[in-house]
Amino acid sequence: MQMERVYNFNPGPAALPLPVLERVRDELLNFQGTGMSILETSHRSPEYRQVHEGAIEALRQLLAIPDDYAVLLMGGGATLQFALVAFNLLEPGQHAEYLITGRWSEKALKEAQLVGDARAIWSSQGTNYDRVPRPDEFFISDDAAYLHYTSNNTIAGTQFHYIPETPEGVPLVCDMSSDVASRPIDVSRFGIIYAGAQKNLGPAGVTVVIIHPELLERSRAKDLPSLLSYAKIAEKNSLLNTPPVFAVYVLGLVVQHYLEQGGLKALAELNEQKARLLYETIDASGGFYRGCAKPESRSLMNVTFRLPTEDLEAQFIEEAKRERLVGLKGHRSVGGLRASLYNAVSLEAVQALTEFMKEFQRRHG
Ligand code: PMP
Repeated sequence: MQMERVYNFNPGPAALPLPVLERVRDELLNFQGTGMSILETSHRSPEYRQVHEGAIEALRQLLAIPDDYAVLLMGGGATLQFALVAFNLLEPGQHAEYLITGRWSEKALKEAQLVGDARAIWSSQGTNYDRVPRPDEFFISDDAAYLHYTSNNTIAGTQFHYIPETPEGVPLVCDMSSDVASRPIDVSRFGIIYAGAQKNLGPAGVTVVIIHPELLERSRAKDLPSLLSYAKIAEKNSLLNTPPVFAVYVLGLVVQHYLEQGGLKALAELNEQKARLLYETIDASGGFYRGCAKPESRSLMNVTFRLPTEDLEAQFIEEAKRERLVGLKGHRSVGGLRASLYNAVSLEAVQALTEFMKEFQRRHG
């Protein structure tokens, strides 16, 4: 008997499109007539080559990545990128600048500081990361090695709704882990975009890194150990060592699926619709549900909110689970509730959640 699937609001690893999971299941024992699983196939085989190149090509299409940018598929999570960005771009005597809008940008800064001179130029830590800055609230030096920011703050539930403008010659580096591929973006504005796949693009284990050719040159000029060097990984098309083959395979299927669903424009419309429905429910609750983020910084991906007491929050999570609504607990560092509405979360799931919220308020409000 097939178990009924839940409405999955996990923050990452997170929901994946059902048709992709079904295809993975169907192909698991015999991948494309090879008589073996993709998990058992050499990464040097023609079958895997096709999977690998297909995934990169699909990403190029979905995100409209300019041809001269490199697309890397790496292990180590977004966390490894916190350090690699500095290893590859930060020279002695230079400094890098960071916008600190949540736990993940804090960690990105700390890791970069182990490598070189990295400085925070703006932070919302004092107000529990309840917002991102307005463009006129920070000043980027024109001799900075790069500006780093986190486009979506997974824990606090805030998101940039604009792309920061940097002075001429200062590349923009973005941790896009929790909102990549959720809306159209102009990749040509960025020096580096990196994103762990496990929220909007697929399973954990693979991180996508998109790099401007000039920054690849900058990386080439350094003699870094192979797996720390963007240039060396790019030269081997991310096949410098054994890549996370299964994660790349699933990522390729997920990206292909989104292309078939109408690409980023269609995803953005759906994502807006889902977030609007949930925020409207919060705002219409007369203060029973309280959003954590300042309205102008609200994330469309991670909706964070609180109830009048922690006991009620615990009860909410318990009762929601009984209605097959899972993954709603806020990050352990902040508590409260969080609904992650990544690409693979359906409108139906959000409707089920908002109906439950109204019912819960009727009983406990
Ligand atoms: N950046 C952001 C914005 C994240 O949400 C996360 C994970 N939740 C990370 C970085 C860290 O990613 P990883 O676990 O893949 O290293």
